[in-house]
Amino acid sequence: MVKRNVNFNPGPAALPLDVLNIVREELINYQSSGMSILESSHRAKEFEAINDQTIMLVRELLGLGADYHVLFLGGGASTQFALIPMNFIGDGKMAAYVDTGEFAAKALKECQIVAKAHVAFSSKEEQYRRVPKMSEIKYPEDIAYLHVCSNNTIEGTQFREFPNTGSVPLVADMSSDIASRWLDYRKFSMIYAGAQKNLGVAGVTLLLIHDDFLAKRKNGLPTILSYKTHADKKSLYNTPPIFGVYIMKLVLEWIKSKGGLAGMGKINAAKKDLLYGAIDAAPDFYKGTAEKDSRSWMNVTLRLPTQDMEDKFIADAKKEGLIGLKGHRSVGGIRFSIYNAVSLVDIQKAVEFMGKFHKSC
Ligand SMILES: *Cc1c(COP(=O)(O)O)cnc(C)c1O
Repeated sequence: MVKRNVNFNPGPAALPLDVLNIVREELINYQSSGMSILESSHRAKEFEAINDQTIMLVRELLGLGADYHVLFLGGGASTQFALIPMNFIGDGKMAAYVDTGEFAAKALKECQIVAKAHVAFSSKEEQYRRVPKMSEIKYPEDIAYLHVCSNNTIEGTQFREFPNTGSVPLVADMSSDIASRWLDYRKFSMIYAGAQKNLGVAGVTLLLIHDDFLAKRKNGLPTILSYKTHADKKSLYNTPPIFGVYIMKLVLEWIKSKGGLAGMGKINAAKKDLLYGAIDAAPDFYKGTAEKDSRSWMNVTLRLPTQDMEDKFIADAKKEGLIGLKGHRSVGGIRFSIYNAVSLVDIQKAVEFMGKFHKSC
């Protein structure tokens, strides 16, 4: 067997080994087509089947009906930061943004470039250590949509509940926690997520757009920038990120085999309990940076007493095959990114290392 590291990278991130093995098996001759899926036309029946199956799997696992368009686009989640206000904020209107971290702030900034934005809540002054209570989110009623970032990848915080916005469309960047737990995804008019954290590889972004919300879009955008173009053509207006969609299909099948989102959520709950348990057992040494009731199940952020100890922690962990632990350059410290493909056994290895490291200091 090939020796593999335990991969705590924040994104691109770990993939299930089962998925990598299927890719390897199918790479040279995809389902007896005589060629690789990498060489396939996006109009070929092989890819059309993959596209359709991936759409169906997304709807099935997230509990969505045919009233949601499922799109696979290039450009990353960051491109949606700009396209969402361009597509949905009409002349003289504005949208509201919940500012809970660096990515949420980037989305807000892009909106301010193309339209007007109202800040519905910000924890910036509190170093983004928490997400809001629902009662703290405030916005005028006539906004085009309310935007939230469900999991703050850099700061290690996550929403446990979402606001009831009534007739105001709710839009979420779920790049770092989509499909990691069961929740009522129907609450959202639009959800988007770069695939490279929980759904596969870099290069494809999943978009879910409710039909009623899409109907409210603005006209007059260049064809390629309009969500309507991609919805009408099932993401096949131009060449889609074929390989990314193929991997997403395999990852979704893998999630299904784990009991779907309810099953995945149980595994993820056990993982975060174990890891936060190890942090809380040594509070003078391992200091979680997020407020406890805002803690993320996907990105676990902590500090050690000194920067030197943090550097040593990362270096020693690496020697034991635990990689990707350096906190984001903007906040420092340690970050364990424990997306779906990181197993409970991987977390057990990390916790064992943490105990040993603490003793050695
Ligand atoms: C990683 C990430 C992004 C950026 O995604 P790109 O695909 O690099 O554009 C945006 N939002 C969140 C919450 C993320 O975790």
